[in-house]
Amino acid sequence: MKPPARLLILDDDPLTGQTISNIAVLAGVEALYTDDPREFFRLSKDWGPDFIALDLVMPRMDGVQVMVELARLNCQADIIISSGVGGRVLDAAARSATEHGLKISGVLPKPFSPARLRELLNRQSARATHTVRNTPNVAQSANSIPAHELADAISLEQIKVVYQPKINCRTGLLAGFEVLARWQHPTRGTIAPDDFIPLAEKSGLINALTESVILQSLRWFAGLSDSFGLDVGFDYLKRRLNDVTMSVNISAISLSHLDLFERIENHCRSMHIQPERIIFELTETCAMEDPVSSLDILTRLRMKGFHLSIDDFGTGYSSMLQLARLPFSEIKIDKSFVMTASESKESCTVIKTINDLGHGLGLYTSAEGIESLETLEYLRSIGCDLAQGYAIARPMSGPAIIEWLSNCNNNDETRRLNVLHSLNILDTPGDERFDRITRLAARLFQVPIALFSLVDTHRQWFKSSVGLETQETPRDISFCHHAIRDDCILVVPDASQDPLFADNPLVQSAPFIRFYAGCPVHADTGIRLGTLCLIDQQPRSFSNHQQVLLKHLAQMVENELASDFVAHSDAFTGMLNRRGFDARAAESISLCQDAGLHACLFLFDLLEFKAFNETWGRAAGDRALIAFGHALKETFRGSDLIARYGDDDFVVLMTGVDPLAAENTLLRLDDVIARSFGEYPVTHLSGWSILQRADSTQQLILRASQNMLIARSPRGN
Ligand code: C2E
Ligand code: CA
Ligand code: CA
Repeated sequence: MKPPARLLILDDDPLTGQTISNIAVLAGVEALYTDDPREFFRLSKDWGPDFIALDLVMPRMDGVQVMVELARLNCQADIIISSGVGGRVLDAAARSATEHGLKISGVLPKPFSPARLRELLNRQSARATHTVRNTPNVAQSANSIPAHELADAISLEQIKVVYQPKINCRTGLLAGFEVLARWQHPTRGTIAPDDFIPLAEKSGLINALTESVILQSLRWFAGLSDSFGLDVGFDYLKRRLNDVTMSVNISAISLSHLDLFERIENHCRSMHIQPERIIFELTETCAMEDPVSSLDILTRLRMKGFHLSIDDFGTGYSSMLQLARLPFSEIKIDKSFVMTASESKESCTVIKTINDLGHGLGLYTSAEGIESLETLEYLRSIGCDLAQGYAIARPMSGPAIIEWLSNCNNNDETRRLNVLHSLNILDTPGDERFDRITRLAARLFQVPIALFSLVDTHRQWFKSSVGLETQETPRDISFCHHAIRDDCILVVPDASQDPLFADNPLVQSAPFIRFYAGCPVHADTGIRLGTLCLIDQQPRSFSNHQQVLLKHLAQMVENELASDFVAHSDAFTGMLNRRGFDARAAESISLCQDAGLHACLFLFDLLEFKAFNETWGRAAGDRALIAFGHALKETFRGSDLIARYGDDDFVVLMTGVDPLAAENTLLRLDDVIARSFGEYPVTHLSGWSILQRADSTQQLILRASQNMLIARSPRGN
């Protein structure tokens, strides 16, 4: 049996000291208490405590001094700071201790709650069983492990990796994983990275270590969605997994080693992983060490497509100006603030400030160290983008992640409703993103009614509907409630002849359903939230080909649910931006190719827009951009994809269109523009191209822009 963990207490108040000791003993932890610093240092050396509870303010020595001394003695215990002083001081002390290299497991404000102390001890004992730092007779610190052992460990692949899931705060959906290194030592047990990364950095082994970590994780990542076999129940999850990201930690020293990144790029290429799915995490201090050459290196990495994240933000020292110049895509709020958010107002202020700063610089914000659902809720409330922490999931081995994902995939009703409710989508206003798809469905299938229905506890609620006035119906009479029972499409060719539906009030009275086809819409790792469904008042048959098409449309709804709309829309006009267009156009194009439908892409370029701005002023320029967007919306159909593609470039993709109609559409646009542009008309060039069998979005755009230059003279007034 494992020996009980040991807690050493230093406190000038015997009553407090004794109380802490009693609580610890009840929690199965051995405890020793002293109020004498000298005795304390002797015990911390000879007795080898796993935990230290430390009072910050004592008459003979202050807690901060004690921590400096503990750091000098290379103390490996987990430290719990207790004190009656205010939260801000406590937080500052905790941060200063972390900077000295001590392991701070939490703060215990006085008057303290026994539950909080037990929680800190339990959490740490759980960790103690996984790491060796709590077996006092074994030397574990970086200083005591010889470098050659680490070198051997790297070549023998004893450095393994674990993965910690990261979710989108707003939707609760899986967004990616962070890779964390673990040393599986044959005799010392598992060694935590804080204990061997510094050694690797000091002894010139860090690049080899990083490459080993990256190779293992890329291999796992490349095969991830295939680990779920051919079971159709996992189709949604498999598709989602091809979009999630993987974050890897990079040490400051590695940053200047360009050959390392070249090799990483090659590994990605050979395993068919897009660099866009890989995020390198660098601490802010690391990037700031040499801002000039950092800018150079980081920019090159971004140009290869990799994303960059500023790790542990808030703990280093950075100049805001330099930070703003560096090409990061994400800012990661340090866990020391996040872990203390529930008990410290100051931490919340810091979190919110960093979050606003990140968004102000156009970065995604991410928080790690989330240990309670309350903190997760707080982060959601301030609009933080991404979340990671024990309350969501612990770091796990590759196979454990697969098991975790499979378990998340089960559609038990409680979990299903939890996911639905955490999406915060019920009872929200209409949304163009989904309306475009229901309109497209109604048009392609020529049905009077098309719905995106969410199956809630006692009702189905329509997030988007074409051809139906009601916003919801009771769940027990809904067709969709049946359709979400498995992953196939539910087809009811004639409800009046179907024993399950013939008596249904929706069949007997308005909307007089005769034909129904509903395809499940998934979220999270495979939960069926509701359906995309088609309804007709006539009986109909529904071919296999049509089923494939409906499935395609349902996948578009799923992609909208999972997409980050903020990143996909142009803040100024509210239209889709280039990224948003590219993501959706690819789907629409493959839909047309699968279904043998025509599609037509239009490109518009406002002429001499710069000169226009100079002549009429920026405000008029802004109005013209918005007006042009409106004119496009009025001219094209609600099911078309319309976007602002660049500063003064616009693009429209029409799906399921007669190619001959293209010319007419442009004439219609001219009419709309003539009517709606008042004082300052803009002129534009336009070009279009028709979808060919194997086209990609880029090929369509290229041909449209060639046609624009060759075939058309300037249009407009
Ligand atoms: P980090 O990059 O800040 O990684 C996050 C650390 O927070 C991980 O510790 C993770 O297990 C822990 N964590 C996540 N959620 C929670 C939570 O809710 N509560 C608490 N208390 N902790 C949480 P880990 O794995 O011990 O890693 C420690 C550090 O070691 C990492 O900090 C990172 O700086 C470094 N590291 C890990 N793997 C590598 C690597 O492959 N290369 C390099 N250069 N550094 C690495
Ligand atoms: Ca990290
Ligand atoms: Ca971090």
